[in-house]
Amino acid sequence: MSMTQDLRDIQHFGEEGGVVPVIDHAATSTFLNPDDMEKVFHGEVKGCYLYSRHSNPTVNAFSQKLAAVEGTEAAFGVASGMAAISCTVHQLLMDGGHMVSSNTIYGGTWALFKNILPKQGIKIDFVDPYDVKAFEAAITPDTKVIYTESMSNPLLGVSDIPALAKLAKKHGCKLVVDNTFTPLIFSPKKMGADVVVYSCTKYISGHSDMIAGAICADRAFIDQLIDVNNGMCMLYGPVMDARIAYELYTRLDTLPLRMMAHSKAARILVARMKKEGIEGIIYPGLPEHPQNELFDSLRNEKFGHGGMITFDCGDLKKATRLAQKLQDEKFGLFAVSLGFTRTLLSCPAASTSSEIPEEDQKKIGLKPGLLRMSIGFVGDDDLMAERFVQCYKAVCK
Ligand code: PLP
Repeated sequence: MSMTQDLRDIQHFGEEGGVVPVIDHAATSTFLNPDDMEKVFHGEVKGCYLYSRHSNPTVNAFSQKLAAVEGTEAAFGVASGMAAISCTVHQLLMDGGHMVSSNTIYGGTWALFKNILPKQGIKIDFVDPYDVKAFEAAITPDTKVIYTESMSNPLLGVSDIPALAKLAKKHGCKLVVDNTFTPLIFSPKKMGADVVVYSCTKYISGHSDMIAGAICADRAFIDQLIDVNNGMCMLYGPVMDARIAYELYTRLDTLPLRMMAHSKAARILVARMKKEGIEGIIYPGLPEHPQNELFDSLRNEKFGHGGMITFDCGDLKKATRLAQKLQDEKFGLFAVSLGFTRTLLSCPAASTSSEIPEEDQKKIGLKPGLLRMSIGFVGDDDLMAERFVQCYKAVCK
């Protein structure tokens, strides 16, 4: 797979020709002709600014740039990753229906699908994300959505997006892919996904200093989301602030460099862990990873295998002790989230996946002793690998 559009193809000038777009703070926009306002509300005129919950020039600049990166016709910046996911699935399942979802997804998404959507008349079946046949078997005449994460949180398994896209097409449903863990590495739209959602809080922001999300899709779907009568983004209202959009617009330029740096740092650490004979490493770049071949066949090669490593410490006590030691020795920070310049460490069973009951965690292989590491690139990668090994020896041996 290769990227067809270059980031440099996207240019937005500031009002005075500045090399970056201006931040348009306006909540609302003036209409010189009152008739036009009425037409906008009736959907008869498009392309003018009405109110910033509907569309905003700075948010649009970021959205267009992200759409170019993703290879989609359009995109829409929203307030968080959960806003992107909830608005997307609510839009697609507005009149009820059925969704087949991967059972290995971010805990918040799992809670939304398990606890909230069924109360709103939406039926959901959860299946093994690595088994395309399981998705097909769960499809019913009511199925409208197939949902998966391209790389699952926190087990780092890989979904066969082209096969799921084919399945979605065959059964007339939409494939929604959360690509939060692997921006640029995977291009789900180019593999046939209909909607790609992001928590921009993670790699796309890259600095752990904001909460943001985005939905990438064809123009028609984005227009549905901001429709004044039926649009989930417009009517639930979790839109992106122009200041955040400006930050994200500029940060997209460094996303390729940052993704390469995250992948390189992770690769160096994994190589060192292997050299020390450390077992229990889950990393898609390792030949023993169950989807290593699939990952390699789908990825945009120059971005590597990503910056996420999950490590099985054996039990939760050991995992938290190791995390504490790693923080004390300045290897990383014990904090949820990912995609930061620095390494972040968390124990998913007791934190970001704790919404998934123990019994379900067991079923999907999410062990209590897992330590999830989002590898940062600040500092010397070899020194960081050495620090990890020393901490590991002190706590786990
Ligand atoms: N999707 C994935 C894979 C995540 O890991 C997260 C958060 O951790 C989300 C979505 C939700 O994103 P946000 O926290 O920006 O709402």
